[in-house]
Amino acid sequence: MSRHRSPGGAPIAEESSPHDPPHQRQRRFSTPPSVIRGRLVVAAVAAGAFAAAGQSMASGEPAPDQDGINPMASGQDAAASFGSVVGDSGGGMGGSAPAPEMLPVPRASSAGSEVEKLAKSERISEQRAEEEAERIAAEEEAKRPKVVAPAEGSFTSGFGGRWGTTHYGIDIANSKGTPIVSAQDGVVIEAGPASGFGLWVRVQHDDGTITVYGHVNTITASEGESVKAGDQIATMGNRGFSTGTHLHFEVWNASGKKINPMPWLSARGVDVS
Ligand SMILES: [Zn+2]
Repeated sequence: MSRHRSPGGAPIAEESSPHDPPHQRQRRFSTPPSVIRGRLVVAAVAAGAFAAAGQSMASGEPAPDQDGINPMASGQDAAASFGSVVGDSGGGMGGSAPAPEMLPVPRASSAGSEVEKLAKSERISEQRAEEEAERIAAEEEAKRPKVVAPAEGSFTSGFGGRWGTTHYGIDIANSKGTPIVSAQDGVVIEAGPASGFGLWVRVQHDDGTITVYGHVNTITASEGESVKAGDQIATMGNRGFSTGTHLHFEVWNASGKKINPMPWLSARGVDVS
């Protein structure tokens, strides 16, 4: 009697026998998940290609070359071919099958076009870096104060009548050599000796306003030089008719009238008092 007979005598199909060799059982259940995904992707790609081809044929046009896609006979065939790959390389021992090529590759790919693509992406990166630098510069320019205090120090005298005369500016006292800066963007229109002030610097601004810096010890800017608000133009001194080291600061409006610098400064966000 054959051992492949049941107690009842009915024959048992070979495929369903519980006595299959171990490697056969393993092959049946060891398909790696990546291969299953691969089958799904390939099937989807093939289905998409054929859907497109079907549309073209329906409209009476020849099926276009699908951008390098190699149309497969069917999704089933693709899956079957990968199935055989598993069988061949896996050897039925659950070995790792190589991941199938899931996506189509362009047919016309040359080293030259790859180099060109790389160069193009480098140009795009450089352009983005430049744009980023410009954006940061613009942000910093926007944040930069438009008007600043002309010097650090103690506010010692205001604009107006003083000692029977008129004081046409404000005084800020500090130690000799303290930096004096342009209160606003502008152009240095004069830098040199001036009666009463010893040495002075005058800066003209876009709206025609002129700021004046008197009694300075040294001049650190040149006539004709463009300066930004906060750029040093001189150092504090005690030259001319002065009774102590300080900056005498004046503001002349566009009409040439000497105006009180305090409200001019405070209207622009600067408080020196
Ligand atoms: Zn003064």
